[in-house]
Amino acid sequence: MVKKGSKSYSILYNKCPKCHRGKFWHKNNPYLNILKDNKLTNDHCNRCKFKYEIEPGFWFGAMYVSYGIAVVFLIIFGVSLVSLFKDIEILTIVSVLSILVVILAPLNHFFSRLIWINIFVDYIDSN
Ligand SMILES: [Zn+2]
Repeated sequence: MVKKGSKSYSILYNKCPKCHRGKFWHKNNPYLNILKDNKLTNDHCNRCKFKYEIEPGFWFGAMYVSYGIAVVFLIIFGVSLVSLFKDIEILTIVSVLSILVVILAPLNHFFSRLIWINIFVDYIDSN
């Protein structure tokens, strides 16, 4: 159980990093945010009015987090594929991993922004 007030709470429950009450993304499902709404994060918290884009270009930094998540994912699944299927071809591995990265891109995008903003914004208990 992740406690309110921790960065993990904000990241896992899609909450505003400052108040942990308002939603960061419109929906909790990463695929619905991108496929249905065609809108990214909320501009600001609907509870504490904290503006999420702290400065222009703030979200470019989330790409580094996204890259890190993708690399860790590729290493884990790549090694798993090689150890599960001993005589698998490299082209098959690359193809499977490429398809998985594309399918999981909305999930990666969802969490990379939440992780990125939680690096810079601390929880303030206003209750
Ligand atoms: Zn808030």
